[in-house]
Amino acid sequence: MKSDVVIVGAGPYGLSLAAHLQAQGVKTRIFGRPMDTWVSHMPAGMHLKSEGFASNLADPQDEWTLRTHCKQTAQPYQDTGLPVSLQCFQEYGLAFQRRCVPDLDRRDVTDIEQTAAGFAVTLADGERLITKKVVLAVGITHYAYIPDQLAGLPGDLVSHSSAHADLSRFKGRRVMVVGAGASALDTLKLLLDSSVDAELVARKETLRFHAPPGKGPRPWMDRIRAPMSGLGPGWRSRLCTDAPLVFHAMPERFRHEVVRRHLGPAPCWWTNSDPVLHARKHLGTSIRQVSARGGMVELELAGASGERTVSVDHVIAGTGYRVDLGRLNFLDPGLRARIQTEAGSPRLSANFQSSVPGIYFVGLSSAASFGPMTRFAFGARFTARRLSRHLARTAAKPSPVQDTIGLAPRRLAVPSELHTS
Ligand SMILES: Cc1cc2nc3c(=O)[nH]c(=O)nc-3n(C[C@H](O)[C@H](O)[C@H](O)COP(=O)(O)OP(=O)(O)OC[C@H]3O[C@@H](n4cnc5c(N)ncnc54)[C@H](O)[C@@H]3O)c2cc1C
Repeated sequence: MKSDVVIVGAGPYGLSLAAHLQAQGVKTRIFGRPMDTWVSHMPAGMHLKSEGFASNLADPQDEWTLRTHCKQTAQPYQDTGLPVSLQCFQEYGLAFQRRCVPDLDRRDVTDIEQTAAGFAVTLADGERLITKKVVLAVGITHYAYIPDQLAGLPGDLVSHSSAHADLSRFKGRRVMVVGAGASALDTLKLLLDSSVDAELVARKETLRFHAPPGKGPRPWMDRIRAPMSGLGPGWRSRLCTDAPLVFHAMPERFRHEVVRRHLGPAPCWWTNSDPVLHARKHLGTSIRQVSARGGMVELELAGASGERTVSVDHVIAGTGYRVDLGRLNFLDPGLRARIQTEAGSPRLSANFQSSVPGIYFVGLSSAASFGPMTRFAFGARFTARRLSRHLARTAAKPSPVQDTIGLAPRRLAVPSELHTS
């Protein structure tokens, strides 16, 4: 079976790109379980951090927005100031898929290798297809990060926060959450809501919560000082959403620093005011030693209030995600080795193309190239528009394809295999 473009992954990025490619008549196949990260890897009861207007998948006409979905299903919606529930976003994403990408194939991709005929893509049931171009829209779960100190524990004693959609299974057990970001705080809150005996430790002494949206229109002075963007208010965020190609042209070190620091782990504003949560989190606390003993985890903790040892049934690492191509085990090792990286992330052209012509990365994998926006659903529109135009121009042509790098300063950093114009 032949196809011009294969998209691996059916989250917000894969689905948005598929909707755009179909509209442009590009022969596309898309694989994966729809919205699986949101359905199976986020805790039930969670709310999104992004505002309603910034929580859209993208179709070419901008018709199937969260606002439209909520209107059609008679659910409350506001552009800002009304947290979007996980359940609402899941339903919206699945409705978008049925409406805009009905031909989705739910099989997982288990292997991709480069052959003389093109890229050979193997599916979970062993079927193989050949394609000229592959877009890896594989999202965040492959990159779940557990610090070395905890990673050595037996699998039944430690897990990453992304492993749990249903935290009620911990009822009657004692759980320690590690981390200072939204995943960690959300997990703690939802554990406590399920009457689980849970605590949280984090090395950070203070948490920077996402600012709550104001009520009504913002004063003009505020709007000048911190203009609104899809990543929240502030000039930095605004630059990230309005100028991803300028970001792409910046030196490598600068880009990595911005992605690391800007919008780093920050819990939601509504977890800040919860007094129960407040009492169960221990900031400025480091884990000195971890050991497994009699089916329990023993943690030696050191913090401002001294040292103590606690024994828990399970540790949940709410320690985020780190892009590392080595984790994409469905990529043939030879192919993976030819993809040039910058600190674990693929080096990408201004059209999302890696150093292997015909292999593209979007979403979190592209954040080091296009900035923090592509870590969030808000970046799906920019990505789908730009990449679909490029693929529509080049899809029928054999690789290597003519690529563009967008802005002059970045020419210096472009991998030599990529053609520039
Ligand atoms: C706790 C938490 C809260 C978050 N809150 C927000 C928020 O409020 N707003 C926001 O914009 N973002 C939020 N994010 C980030 C969010 O994950 C991304 O915005 C979004 O999921 C990116 O979409 P994606 O399509 O790139 O990736 P994903 O949603 O991760 O989708 C990738 C898809 O690829 C599939 N896949 C992977 N490998 C294969 C394979 N080999 N074969 C087939 N399919 C495969 C996966 O199953 C998945 O369905 C949050 C993340 C976390 C962890």
